[in-house]
Order: sequence, then C-alpha cells, then structure tokens
Amino acid sequence: MNLSAASIAPTTRPLVDRYGRHISYLRISVTDRCDFRCVYCMAENMTFLPKKDVLSFEEIETIATAFVARGVNKIRLTGGEPLVRKDILDLVRSLGRHIGHGLDELTITTNGSQLSKHAGFLADAGVRRLNVSLDTLDSDRFAAITRRGRLADVMAGIDAAQAAGLAVKINMVAMAGVNDDEIEPMMAWAHGRGMGLTLIEGMPLGEVGIDRVDSYLPLKELHDRLAQRYTLEKLDQRTGGPARYVRVAETGGVLGFITPMSHNFCESCNRVRLTATGQLFMCLGQDDQVNLRDALRDEGMDGLDAALDRAMLLKPKGHDFVIDRARPQPALGRHMSVTGG
Ligand code: SAM
Ligand code: SF4
Repeated sequence: MNLSAASIAPTTRPLVDRYGRHISYLRISVTDRCDFRCVYCMAENMTFLPKKDVLSFEEIETIATAFVARGVNKIRLTGGEPLVRKDILDLVRSLGRHIGHGLDELTITTNGSQLSKHAGFLADAGVRRLNVSLDTLDSDRFAAITRRGRLADVMAGIDAAQAAGLAVKINMVAMAGVNDDEIEPMMAWAHGRGMGLTLIEGMPLGEVGIDRVDSYLPLKELHDRLAQRYTLEKLDQRTGGPARYVRVAETGGVLGFITPMSHNFCESCNRVRLTATGQLFMCLGQDDQVNLRDALRDEGMDGLDAALDRAMLLKPKGHDFVIDRARPQPALGRHMSVTGG
C-alpha cells in the first residue's frame, strides 16, 4: 500500500498489555550485521539477512512515529552494530526530531568501533547518552572475544563520545574464566573517566562460540563478593531498563547489574523490540512476535495500529531462560543480534 494514501492521523491509545504493563520503551535493531563476532553473541560464520528483507529507513521512521504517538518516550537503536548501517545518520537525525515532542530520549547501544567518526553528529542530532559494549581492557583478549575488533578503535570512539559531551555507560558481559578477573579494573577505569559500568549475565541466545554453562557467572554472587570489598549503596535509579544500580562509595561511580538469569525482572517490563525485518518481539526470551512490516506494507497506518494492539494481547508474562548442563541447547535459536539485546 502507498503510505501517503493511508490514514495519517496517528492513534494515541496507550500501549498496555494484558498484565497492565505500559509499554514506553522501544528498542530497534536497525541491522543484524556487525563488524565484530563476539563469542557470546554470534557464531564465527554468520549468514546475514538479504538487504531487501530489512526495513527501509522510512519504514523504521514510520513505525517509530506510531510508537511515539502511542506513548513510547524512549527509543534505543541497537543491532547488530547500528553504526555500520549506511543510512544510520539519516535515521538518527530524523528520529531526533521527536525529542521534546513525545520522545524524551533517543539513545544507542554500540560496540564503539565507528564512534570516533560519528560521535559529534550523534550529539548534534540530540543523542545525549550512549552505551558502549566493552568486555576487557586487554587488547589481545579484546581481539579474542570480538574475534575481529581492535581495542584502540573503541577507545578512540569513547574519547570522541566524551569529547562531544555524550554520557557514556560501559556494558560488560561478565564471563567466568574469560574476563571475571577484570571486573574491578574495569570499574576503576570506567568510574575514573566518569562512566557507569553495567555488568550483564550471558543469556542463552543462539549457537555461539563459548560454553555458556562454564562461562556463566551469576551476578548475585559477584555483587556479594564486591560488597565485601566496597561499600555498595543501593540506588533507586531506573532508566526504563532491567538493570539494578548501586553507587560504589570508594569510586563515586555507578555500577549496574543486569541479571536476567539470576533475578527475573519481567514484572516491571516496559519494552518491546523491533527487528531489522520489522518483526516486533514482545519479550527477549520468548518467540511471540507480530509482523509490523507486512501490516504497514499491506494496510498502512491502520494496519500498523491494529498490529500494535495485537502485540499488546500477545506480550508474554515473562521469559524462562535456564543455563543448565541438562539443557545445553540455547533457550532460543535466534542470536542476540536479531533483537538487539
Ligand atoms: N553491537 C552493539 C553492541 O555490541 O553494543 C549492539 C548490539 S549487542 C547485541 C547489545 C548488547 O548485547 C551488548 O552489550 C552485548 O554485549 C550484549 N549481548 C550480546 N549477546 C549476548 C548474550 N548472549 N547474553 C548477554 N548479553 C549479550
Ligand atoms: Fe556485534 Fe554487538 Fe554482537 Fe558483539 S555484541 S557481535 S558487537 S552485535
């Protein structure tokens, strides 16, 4: 359907699911492609989507506008690596126009490899905060974890982001026997540069390059271990995300814990995830999905709104991830890069 012929008055009905949870946060995976192959995220040889199956920049913009009209006030661009998509800067500029008009925040999760080129532009387009994923400060280890990344590029990206005035938070997937010896040095480094550090438990999504049972590190235990050495002051800070935060009195910095495995946060879930092909996933850990691309292409804005209503009826109560020797296969076949984490 020609979009210009479709109804253009946006529906403003709030997005509320069967359990009374208001959806205010949309994460958009703008591409499944990436210049890294992190061992916990992707297999060495990934087959990526054909470009024709991926939503155009105009389609993403239209879908995002419909969400904002219905009460979404935070959008995160992710992937794959969002900054490797060719027209990403057009998309950021265009979405940035919603800031102050329904949208409170437009933010990005990036591996940082392209950030030194783009940080200034992102700041100009209204982005204020970024999450940069970084699991180690050791360049050899970085090369091993990402399989093809260069630590120096990411460091230059972080420098550029801070120079452009962007607040940076570091996301670190904590893995036993891989980088658990670096948690304290990473915290000292991040906090020393005025950046928060958030630790993430590895989740069983897709076949990848590491043994998830061996490398699984329950963050509850880690929290308790850190609490013996540091004063961890619980913060009520909520960023619309599942992280729980503490302030570390000794460093003055903020430490976050994302614990999907050891602490289920589903009861307060406020988010949905759009894939690069226009599937809307209502839960990172379940397969329920609604095809927004076909709804929009076939029936325009009315079809899109009806699909969003359908999605609210389908949002599951929660995930049921398990990492267990008895269930060695991933909970879901799709990789994190499909839904963007
Ligand atoms: N490429 C960007 C990046 O790395 O920041 C954005 C996409 S990446 C899929 C988003 C986040 O998911 C990253 O912080 C990454 O470390 C995390 N991630 C990927 N696979 C994961 C898994 N299986 N379990 C937990 N976190 C994962
Ligand atoms: Fe790429 Fe991010 Fe996945 Fe690493 S975690 S492979 S950078 S999408």
